[in-house]
Amino acid sequence: MKDDPQRPECRHWIGAEQRHCRAGEGIRQYIPGPRCPAHTPSALLGKPDPQPGPGWPIFRQEAP
Ligand SMILES: [Zn+2]
Repeated sequence: MKDDPQRPECRHWIGAEQRHCRAGEGIRQYIPGPRCPAHTPSALLGKPDPQPGPGWPIFRQEAP
């Protein structure tokens, strides 16, 4: 499989393993960058990840 530079991958640095996670499944964009479900900012804090839904404005992409 060729390496697609456009393929999103988890950019979380796993300090214990001295490498980036680079998982490619379930990647979503977060403030620090693309993250897999195991390494979202919420997951790293031990909190459930907020899910987008009705009335949840965080994922609006409106131009200023
Ligand atoms: Zn990850």
